[in-house]
Formats: sequence, structure tokens, C-alpha cells
Amino acid sequence: MTAINFAVIGYGGMGSYHVHNIMPNENERIHVVGTYDISGERQKISSQYNHKIYNTLEDVLTDETIEALLIATPNDSHKELAIQALQAGKHVVCEKPVAMNVEELDAILKVAKETGKIFMVHQNRRWDPDFLITRELYKNHQIGELFQIETRVQGANGIPGDWRHELKHGGGMLLDWGVHLLDQLLFLVDSRIEKVSADLSYILGDEVDDGFITYIIFENGVRAIVEVGTTNYTKLPRWYLKGTKGTAIIYDWDLTGEMVIESGKQNIQAPRPVQAGVGLTKTMAPPSEEATETKNLPQGSAEYDPFYKNFYNVVREQAEPVVKNEEVRQVMVLIEEIFKAAKR
Ligand code: NAD
Repeated sequence: MTAINFAVIGYGGMGSYHVHNIMPNENERIHVVGTYDISGERQKISSQYNHKIYNTLEDVLTDETIEALLIATPNDSHKELAIQALQAGKHVVCEKPVAMNVEELDAILKVAKETGKIFMVHQNRRWDPDFLITRELYKNHQIGELFQIETRVQGANGIPGDWRHELKHGGGMLLDWGVHLLDQLLFLVDSRIEKVSADLSYILGDEVDDGFITYIIFENGVRAIVEVGTTNYTKLPRWYLKGTKGTAIIYDWDLTGEMVIESGKQNIQAPRPVQAGVGLTKTMAPPSEEATETKNLPQGSAEYDPFYKNFYNVVREQAEPVVKNEEVRQVMVLIEEIFKAAKR
């Protein structure tokens, strides 16, 4: 097994996370030779570790020992860097969002095709344990057929950092977090999209969206509400899932949650009216005790390889990528549609 020699372009928050937290998990397959960053300060921090510090991009591109680059720079630089890397004969792992729009992605994919080099996008949240539970529920019907998916991330810290506030760098939450939630959704639901409506929020007064809500209707009848917020001082659950036989809730990344399912018992008493506020309701009364069962969430697991193991197999053994470029393109098409729907 010969490890793939990587150089990391952009040793910021995520670049350094790859170097120290993700790539070492595959150290038989992935070897970090060195890093390059335009910031002297980041170069200095990186130089504390046992790898090479490149002074220019040219030095990386002309280093024949380097087989692949990881691009972990702000979103507006992905296209140019990826094209230069592919043309220099390097394979590329690119951080999400792959590019600013579909046009930029198509330009990258054209060069990947011409050069025959591998281009793969790090859509890492396909391996998130909370997503894998949702995927298990979708595939194995523990709450019946899933027909409504609510997927949310909400924070109270505003938009982080510097470039994420600026349009020209591809800032904003739809491109930042939206791309993760939409990638998960399209990876999950095996159907085309019929309708999209959306609203972006500008509560913080930035030129980019600080959050959004989109409602997506798939041709197979599944409905999804996807929401990202950065001004939520208390938050809604990460996932709320309705199926034909039950409802599941996953509160957070700690995987707390439950599913409540029809018990299927015969001779169930009709729910009794309850006092609600100053009124009375039977419709909104809890179901009678024997009508439902509360269960633990199922376990979820990925039947596909971890990201860098898969990348290695794609490069060395022509394996199928877990994150396919056509899927990444579909997500970018959807993001463009959400921007348009919000304007409408
Ligand atoms: P960051 O600002 O922390 O780091 C970016 C680094 O890139 C900085 O050190 C900057 O100096 C450097 N840089 C900028 N332009 C460069 C260039 N042309 N060449 C070399 N270096 C350059 O940003 P970040 O949070 O690390 O985000 C970087 C990328 O990673 C973004 O695309 C972001 O969306 C993505 N990201 C992905 C995840 C994930 O979970 N997959 C999480 C965070 C960020």
C-alpha cells in the first residue's frame, strides 16, 4: 500500500483540522507532506509540525512528490486553485461548498475530465451519526414511510470569522451550512425535486444571508423543511421526522431523541378531550396510552468507506467515489434555485 502524498492549501480552521484530526485516521493511505497558506501567521503555526512549509503555490504545483492537494481556502478561491492543481497533474480534494455556483463547478469538472485526475468534494456530513440514524429510518421504515423531514442547525453566535460575511468570498449560511444539509437531503431522498420555496434572513445586517428556511417538495411526495439560523438563543431539534406509522426526533449531535410509533394494538380507547389554554380539544389531545409506544432511536451506520479511505481507493483502484461529482452538482443547482426562490 503506497500512501498518497498530499499538500494542504489553506492551513486555517478546516485545513488544520484535516491535517491533525482527519488525515491521521488514514495514515497508511494518506500522507501529509506539507502545507501552503498565504498568511504568514498560519505558515508560522504550521511550521511547528513535522511537515514541509511551501512558500508559494508554484512550489507545491511543481513538487513531483505531491500527488494530491486538499483545498481548504475561502469558497471564492476553490475554482482557480482546483483548476491549477488538476492542470499540474494533481488529484484534488476540495472543501465544500465546491465553488460559488454551477458555472464554476462545471469549469472545474471540464478540466478534471481533460486531465483524467480525480476531483472529490469533502461532503463529510454524509458520515454524521445523526444523519446515519435518519438514513436508517428512511431506508428501513421503523416509523413507516418517511414523508416529512425537518432538518435544522441553529446557533446564537452570528456568522463566524471574516470572509464568511462577504459576498465576494462566497459567504453566507446557505453556502456554508446549507450545502451540508442539502447534500444530506439529496443523498437521502431518491427522487427528483418538484418545487422549492425559500426565504433568506438578513437579521444581522450583513450583505450575505445569516440563515434561511427552504421548503422542498420531492416528486415522490416527501416534503423537507431545511433551516439554518445563527440568531437562535434556544433551538429546535436537529431532526424532526414524520412517517406513516410514527414520529422521530433527534435533538442534537449527542444523538438524544426517541421515536413514538403506533402500537398496533386493537380496541384502543378514543383520545379524551383535554383542556388546552382556555379551550377544549380532542384533536390535539395526546393519544391514549395504549395507542403508541416510545422507543429508542435505531443505530445508524455507513455502509460506505470513510472519506479518505474511499478517496484512496478511487485513486489507486478506480473504486466508485462515495461523493460523486454529479451529486455535488445537483446540490449546487438546488442552492441556485433556493437563491432564486427567495428572490421570487
Ligand atoms: P479559515 O479562514 O479558517 O481558513 C482559510 C485559510 O485559507 C486561511 O488560513 C487563509 O489565510 C488561507 N488562504 C486564503 N486564500 C488562500 C490562497 N489563495 N492560497 C492559500 N491559502 C489561502 O476558513 P475555514 O473555516 O478553514 O474554511 C476553509 C474552507 O473549508 C471553506 O471552503 C469552508 O467552507 C470549508 N469548511 C468545511 C468544513 C466541513 O465541515 N467540511 C468546516 C469548516 C470549513
